[in-house]
Amino acid sequence: MQAFALKIVLTMELLTILNQCHHHRGFVYQHARFGADKKSIEVDVRPRQGSAAVCSGCHRPAPGYDHLPERRFEFIPLWGFLVFLLYRMRRVDCRDCGVVVEQVPWSDGKHQLTRAYMLFLARWARKLSWKETAESFHTSWDKVCDAVESVVTWGLEHRTLASIRAIGVDEIQYAKGHKYLTLVYQIDPGFTRLLWVGKERTLESFQGFFTVIGEQLASQIEFVCSDMWQPYLEVIRQKCSQALHILDRFHIVAKMNKALDEVRAAESRKMAQDGHPPLLKKSRWCVLKRKQNLTSQQKFRLRDLLRYNLQTVRAYLLKEDFQQFWEYHSPTWAAMFLDFWCYQTMRSRIDPMKKIARTLRTHRALLLNYFKARKQFSSGVIEGLNNKAKVTMRRSYGFRTFRILELALYRSLGKLPEPELTHEFF
Ligand SMILES: [Zn+2]
Repeated sequence: MQAFALKIVLTMELLTILNQCHHHRGFVYQHARFGADKKSIEVDVRPRQGSAAVCSGCHRPAPGYDHLPERRFEFIPLWGFLVFLLYRMRRVDCRDCGVVVEQVPWSDGKHQLTRAYMLFLARWARKLSWKETAESFHTSWDKVCDAVESVVTWGLEHRTLASIRAIGVDEIQYAKGHKYLTLVYQIDPGFTRLLWVGKERTLESFQGFFTVIGEQLASQIEFVCSDMWQPYLEVIRQKCSQALHILDRFHIVAKMNKALDEVRAAESRKMAQDGHPPLLKKSRWCVLKRKQNLTSQQKFRLRDLLRYNLQTVRAYLLKEDFQQFWEYHSPTWAAMFLDFWCYQTMRSRIDPMKKIARTLRTHRALLLNYFKARKQFSSGVIEGLNNKAKVTMRRSYGFRTFRILELALYRSLGKLPEPELTHEFF
């Protein structure tokens, strides 16, 4: 008797709730019951009497043809129970499209998951890793991936790309063995987002971005920030010649730190070989970190180190000296500083630093554009986006294939629109 009463309550209340939050014209919820395993709830869905099926080809009502076998559409789980909507899809005999399956509002027809459940999972997948999302809702990683893919695809189709003033292009390593992605960001003041993910960091991958936005939009871009990667420079010259091209400060600082680290490692090795005391041991962070970020112990180490006439010390001083470059306001003064710095560095007899100086000389004009743009595009913007992208990728999205990373990156950085539901489930 009790079980029977529970069943009635389940049916009544659940249908009321469903009608409240997931109501679709032309369809009614009929029965709700526990599945045979008692771990799921099944809800029957029927067409409302007298309402015609809609053709999935042309989205217009069409006369019915026949019924397909019952399908289970997975809905948002409730109190630890999986919830399925059970429905026999109709086929219609459409005048224009022939015999095709009907279109139903809760599903795109391709997925077993309902639209509401996909959006629900995709939203959680932004807060948790995909694995954690799957575990939290007793579903599989693949279904979470499907959900994200569907929401991202919708978002890419419905996003607006009008009026992009400034873009930044960035490369990011995503696997061992030099596998890179090309990321293009919109970096307008006050509005930043990821616009494009390209495989590799070739001419073609970056050109793909310009194919997507088209010539009209490309011709309106006023500023482009990039690093010194040759293929990017090339594409920017071809596709965006009207824009002011700025070399990004963040990438130059990173390059300089890399050179300094090379000098330090080589010198440390050599000192050990020659039997000198290990002066440079544990000095890595002392020389790579900005001075103000050092711990007090590292400050002591650095002060100690600076007493020696080591290559590492001289390279460190050159690097620190270069920070001044970014402080200038006038391009003329900045240019004078740059030339003098390069001249000094070329005489330092420290090869990795000389290499940097040569690169900076080659790209002198682009470096000075930073001052022409009046520093509107600080390194902070691209650096921040780059960090977010790295965090997104680190959150272990299972298989690190290009497609998975692409989806994850668009999902977390693309600011894509989402399909609208009549009820906020999340
Ligand atoms: Zn049709």
